Amino acid sequence: MASALLQVSRASLVLNSTNGAKPEHQREVPEVFLTPRVTRPTLLPLHFAIVGCGLGGLAAAHCLGRAGHTVTVFESASSIGDVGAGIQISPNLSRLLIRWGLGDDLRRASVKPESITFRRYKTGHRVGWTKWGENMDKDYGSPYYHVHRADLLDMLLKLASPYMTLFLNSRVVSLDPDLGQLTLESGRRFRADIILGADGVKSMIREVVVGHPDKPIPTGDAAYRAIIPTAEMSKDPDLKPLVDHPEMTGWIGPGRHIMGYCIRGREEYNIVMLHPDRGSRAEAYDMPGSVQQMKADFAGWEPRVDKLLGLISHTLIWPLFDRNPLDTWVHSGGKVALLGDACHPMLPYRAQGAAMAIEDAAVLGVLFSHITSRRQIRPLLQAYQDLRYPRTTDTQLAARANQKIFHLPDGPEQEARDISMREGMEDSLREERGEPSLLDSAGNANVWADRPKNRIQFLYDAELEAERWWRTSGNRWSVGETLAFKL
Ligand SMILES: Cc1cc2nc3c(=O)[nH]c(=O)nc-3n(C[C@H](O)[C@H](O)[C@H](O)COP(=O)(O)OP(=O)(O)OC[C@H]3O[C@@H](n4cnc5c(N)ncnc54)[C@H](O)[C@@H]3O)c2cc1C
Repeated sequence: MASALLQVSRASLVLNSTNGAKPEHQREVPEVFLTPRVTRPTLLPLHFAIVGCGLGGLAAAHCLGRAGHTVTVFESASSIGDVGAGIQISPNLSRLLIRWGLGDDLRRASVKPESITFRRYKTGHRVGWTKWGENMDKDYGSPYYHVHRADLLDMLLKLASPYMTLFLNSRVVSLDPDLGQLTLESGRRFRADIILGADGVKSMIREVVVGHPDKPIPTGDAAYRAIIPTAEMSKDPDLKPLVDHPEMTGWIGPGRHIMGYCIRGREEYNIVMLHPDRGSRAEAYDMPGSVQQMKADFAGWEPRVDKLLGLISHTLIWPLFDRNPLDTWVHSGGKVALLGDACHPMLPYRAQGAAMAIEDAAVLGVLFSHITSRRQIRPLLQAYQDLRYPRTTDTQLAARANQKIFHLPDGPEQEARDISMREGMEDSLREERGEPSLLDSAGNANVWADRPKNRIQFLYDAELEAERWWRTSGNRWSVGETLAFKL
């Protein structure tokens, strides 16, 4: 009991100290925020059905189950797993995962990159550099990690398993949103108080929510993905530094770019190669691509790229889809809502898609930990959308902006980009030497050098924001005040 009280009072302190006084990018790093409801489940347990057992669906199962709700998850695949590829975990995500008890697992499975470097595609010359490593912990209060997607999925599965009933081989084919009833391919039907569509970029639940067909938009880009054993790289003096000094390396060129980084204790090197899509109609993330075509797509790039690609024996091809921001994420009946890529898919160029899906789940978990009456379901779903929509839309747009910046054709715009990135690099190197920063980094072409933008992206604490909303707006319900509902 004493520790529960302590948690609440610490949370209150943080909430009071940051409550609306400063714009978000100027707020201080919160000391510790512990979700007060973790130790005190909801007074009104509901039944949530989650469609999709990806990163977002699993995080939602954990957050809602931990809050005391009954959770059933329906997944179309026959097993839970992820493609052989890496994923970046920025501080806004690691903050949640560590709070949920995954700190040791993350440390074991991940690599903490020392920095991010941008290089010219043909020469390999460094045009941008920003120090990461301990700076991430210092500036944003939590680490930046690189992990294997399957390892992250395993961690979330471990968190969610005690709270969920999972149905595999269970594709949801239709939904009655007013009844809160879903139908599986097998014909079986299930009802729930709330259905969450966490069914990814090609979501079918989304069409039910918006009320008309809504197909994903091809972005014109596709990604080859591959994993290289670093033992092979270490044999080559040109590639060894990529393993010895792990960083996020981006080679940027006209219409294409490559991102590479170490994962799994530096035993593997994840490489993702973005290029113009040739109209591939691949609907899955694990479609094999042509290694020959992949090499042709990056012919003439600097020798290190050539050597890296020479170590790849098979690759996956992943066409990239996008959607415009939706009018709503919540069905008008108040029983169905969307989360993750189902409502805000984004290009991977800011490495935030999974982070946004998991933040969505965190917000839902906190909001629904407070529910005491069924009349609160609709306004809580609306609050969820209101809290999440601006942030995810801004992040979608930031990812699109990077597509343009990374892929500029050689010429004056590219030269201006490189000058801007170099200014960011020189400032970062100055600080590395212990000298003061002389740069106004806002608007730097290397978005990871842009401090105001990074503070908004990385300092964000999804649970804190939800708890803050509850304390300033939501808990008025508990004293009977009526809110004007938008739904
Ligand atoms: C190349 C690339 C690199 C990326 N890198 C990063 C990164 O570094 N950092 C980051 O944060 N994000 C990254 N992302 C984005 C991230 O992968 C996605 O945003 C994230 O996986 C979305 O999670 P989700 O749970 O919403 O959807 P998904 O992971 O797509 O999960 C959806 C699940 O729903 C299931 N499903 C679908 N339809 C049905 C149905 N009808 N019935 C039942 N089940 C169904 C699917 O089988 C799947 O398991 C990257 C994406 C790409 C393409």
